[in-house]
Amino acid sequence: MHAPTCLMPDSDSTDFREITMNTHQIVVLGTGYTGMLATVRLAHRTRRFPVRITLVNPSERFTERLRSHQIATGQQLADLRIPAVLTGTGVDFRRAAATAIDPAARRVTLDDGTVLSYATLVYALGSNTDTVRVPGAADHAWTLNTPRTAHRFAQRLDAAATVTVVGGGLTGIESATEIAERHRGVVVTLISTDEPGAMMGDRARAYLNRAMDRLGVVRRTGVRVTKVLPDAIELTTGEVLPSHLTLWTAGVRAPELATASGIATDEQGAILTDPTLRAISHPDIYAVGDAAAVRQPWGRIHGTCQSGIPTAAYAADAIARRLRRM
Ligand SMILES: Cc1cc2nc3c(=O)[nH]c(=O)nc-3n(C[C@H](O)[C@H](O)[C@H](O)COP(=O)(O)OP(=O)(O)OC[C@H]3O[C@@H](n4cnc5c(N)ncnc54)[C@H](O)[C@@H]3O)c2cc1C
Repeated sequence: MHAPTCLMPDSDSTDFREITMNTHQIVVLGTGYTGMLATVRLAHRTRRFPVRITLVNPSERFTERLRSHQIATGQQLADLRIPAVLTGTGVDFRRAAATAIDPAARRVTLDDGTVLSYATLVYALGSNTDTVRVPGAADHAWTLNTPRTAHRFAQRLDAAATVTVVGGGLTGIESATEIAERHRGVVVTLISTDEPGAMMGDRARAYLNRAMDRLGVVRRTGVRVTKVLPDAIELTTGEVLPSHLTLWTAGVRAPELATASGIATDEQGAILTDPTLRAISHPDIYAVGDAAAVRQPWGRIHGTCQSGIPTAAYAADAIARRLRRM
């Protein structure tokens, strides 16, 4: 079994103090749904092995990302604390963001200066809204990328007469309907290239359309936004629509960290994986959830909790199986 080390900042100097361990060091980056599930499952599956698991996340509070549209309409969510969930698992939690991965040396650098050494890395950094493709989107459109931005969006809703939600996928639909339901005086427009809910069956789509009619959500279908301005959007038709607040939900990208660290990724920054979810470029790294480009015969798995959670469970089991054979 590989005998890795953990390098931590010395309290008295900028040098690193090396803690040698005869254990297999597993580092999990990201504590969304998939990072959390992979960690807890790994802790359980490897409890009889000489394994040490470290979980890294910038916040101590667990972010329920699929409820971001509720924060964006001013609702309070349950305060779920990651250390509390990890109680009794033996997992070390580090509140920090990973800033660099050195896959050759098997090290991760954190924004607090710590360097973690790993034998196995689980990459579960999720994804963020892709605002780079359309001019003005990064500067003038809002996203649900963090609870903080969602909360700031909510604070501006009361003063907005018009809100445009760009993107007719599930995030756009959920956001548009939630805003229309909670802020009845606001004109909410949902812009999408395809019919909203195009991926749903006929009955579900009919239900969705009735709900949007009841809530007064205006739909503009078959058009794209070509530019986002501070208080308007431009469409492919040439129209300029007033929009006091524009919420961007059209597509996601994985964080740049993997690509910047020389790990093979797809065009959305997600790690290219083999059938066991190991990075094709670096088999010591497993990728799960939105940050993994998992190919199936019908194409790439779309990032959702529903598809991400099985990848986390699978990776945890695959790692435990590998350790058993070592
Ligand atoms: C409004 C909305 C509604 C949705 N509704 C649904 C739904 O109904 N059903 C469904 O299946 N899916 C839904 N989704 C999609 C779902 O939320 C994602 O697919 C899911 O969160 C992906 O899980 P994940 O663990 O891969 O990543 P995430 O949940 O995004 O977690 C990633 C974690 O990594 C952390 N992180 C990021 N960078 C770093 C770093 N450098 N170092 C350390 N940690 C880092 C983040 O802080 C975060 O905690 C919705 C998404 C949104 C935005």
